[in-house]
Amino acid sequence: MKRKITVVGSINVDMVTTTARIPSQGETILGDSFQTVPGGKGANQAVAAARLGAEVTMLGKVGADMIGKEMIANLEKNNIFTANVEPVTDVPTGVATILLTEGDNRIIVTPGANSRVTPDYIRSKETVIKESDAILVQLEIPLEAVIVTLELAEKHAVPVIINPAPAQELPQSAWDKATWITPNEQEKKQLFSKKERNEQLITTLGHKGASFQKDGKEYIVPGYVMDAIDTTGAGDTFNGALTTAIAEEKTITEAVQFANAAAALSVTKFGAQGGMPTKQEVEALLK
Ligand code: ADP
Repeated sequence: MKRKITVVGSINVDMVTTTARIPSQGETILGDSFQTVPGGKGANQAVAAARLGAEVTMLGKVGADMIGKEMIANLEKNNIFTANVEPVTDVPTGVATILLTEGDNRIIVTPGANSRVTPDYIRSKETVIKESDAILVQLEIPLEAVIVTLELAEKHAVPVIINPAPAQELPQSAWDKATWITPNEQEKKQLFSKKERNEQLITTLGHKGASFQKDGKEYIVPGYVMDAIDTTGAGDTFNGALTTAIAEEKTITEAVQFANAAAALSVTKFGAQGGMPTKQEVEALLK
């Protein structure tokens, strides 16, 4: 049976320009290539979960513009339920402007419609949250909306996974409501180095895999050795896969193994969403 996952988060378009070098102040140069690709941690993690067989509902906002329509079409193409994704008229769809050069990249994220994911909007979707088998949320939407998501998940006893990216502080009472918190090593250092929250953390360790603690003991679930081509979206794949496995009531060790395998496959192909594997591909690697 398919499990129901609700992803509450950002929907962006990534505008990627490849150049030989970064222009200096006031300078115009010719770029080598340009591409628009669907992105945003929310949308990426929703796609990861849907490819792995979950029934995914997206909660978020796009601009009432052409790009917004395209980003919704992309979610639908990936079998994600988008009827609750509301277009807003006063700001555009969120955009990540990315400059890629050899050995360097510069990124500007303009939240746009993602900034209109308000606490009231989340409250109006309480039934969607209540009827989910698991909730997944990140920090690319207003933090007050993240907090309401955590509150509603707790109220209805739905497991909620929070990927604390980009790293930002939440009140202690909000972190306490999470079932699992999934920082990478950098985010863990920034947010949780001094805090007693260890039994909620699943920390991703790049190619080394991921770790969690139980009864005061640290467990490392090793990753898979792959020929990495593009690690963009590895964390997003990990989170979508982990949430799918938790909704399927796998044990935490099994869920992390599944997420490691999915994320490892994602680094063998280009792009965030482009590299996300299917359930069959993950199961083949796990055998
Ligand atoms: P982020 O992408 O958010 O910085 P990590 O780098 O920790 O997060 O990667 C997330 C997960 O992706 C890891 O826990 C691991 O399962 C997988 N992963 C990342 N890099 C590799 C790699 N080079 N080879 C295999 N698996 C990887």
